[in-house]
Amino acid sequence: MTRLKIAIQKSGRLADRSLSLLERSGLSFARSKDKLFWYGRNLPVDLLLVRDDDIPRLLLEGVCQLGIVGENVAMEKLLESRQRRPGAELESLLKLEFGDCRLMLAIPEDQVFTGVNMLAGKRLATSYPCLTRQYLERHGVEADIVTLNGAVEIAPSLGTADAIVDLVSTGTTLRANHLKAVDEVLSSQAALYRSPAALDDEAERLLAKLLTRIQGVQQAAETKYVMLHAPRDRLADISAMLPGAESPTVLSLEGQPDRVAVHAVCTEQVFWEHLEELKRAGASAVLVLPVEKMLA
Ligand code: ATP
Ligand code: ZN
Repeated sequence: MTRLKIAIQKSGRLADRSLSLLERSGLSFARSKDKLFWYGRNLPVDLLLVRDDDIPRLLLEGVCQLGIVGENVAMEKLLESRQRRPGAELESLLKLEFGDCRLMLAIPEDQVFTGVNMLAGKRLATSYPCLTRQYLERHGVEADIVTLNGAVEIAPSLGTADAIVDLVSTGTTLRANHLKAVDEVLSSQAALYRSPAALDDEAERLLAKLLTRIQGVQQAAETKYVMLHAPRDRLADISAMLPGAESPTVLSLEGQPDRVAVHAVCTEQVFWEHLEELKRAGASAVLVLPVEKMLA
């Protein structure tokens, strides 16, 4: 029987969110501690728990059909594999809105950044040599790239590099090493990728079903169910402030002929943007509830 394999990070920054997304999408696994293979119990979809750096290769080689990995790692490994196999491709199916980070060029904090040109002939330390080379080429600059697997940020103070290209989220590590971020090489988040290997029809259908479920969970995470009371004569204004998936439900309130209850589904962001306006329009008893799943 057809089974799909999904690769996710075993432990690290993406591990919990990746597993939770799949479980919320209705997948359940026979968890085996310390093993890297978890068998899918309710659907023919199994999990492979690996280092994030291995995920792009598992997809490119067709060992796994799906994988969740940072765009930074996916793109670096894809560029790397193109050196051996030109034309290699990984399809990004869905950005997952977690694992946000930025790959940044950083220079010693006492230097003035005058543009990427200032790197010409200099040495750049990074764990992302392919993305760094692509960035330099984009700017028409030639520099030496020193590939390091860790502790990239100490390279300038050790004198092994003049600048670095590294992942930054808060900038604390950079400051501790007297560096400052000056230009963005890549902005990244976790994404769901699929292998370029062809699938049979049954596997394609299973993949499509899974994708619909994951999208449903993602959409639900951004969506709220809003309930409030409103003056009947302001209904049109209030509905306009709650642009939702569908037109709002309007219910009468016992003993209050001039007020109604309004129920609507809308994105959390829209709701917060309009909260003050809603109150001015006479909204009261506002309740905001989470939505667990959504099917369009
Ligand atoms: P592994 O043991 O699986 O190789 P790792 O040490 O390479 O783990 P993590 O530190 O867990 O990786 O980071 C995994 C991914 O999380 C990164 O590739 C990146 O996409 C994302 N990420 C989000 N924020 C940050 C950050 N501040 N620093 C590094 N990575 C981050
Ligand atoms: Zn890694």
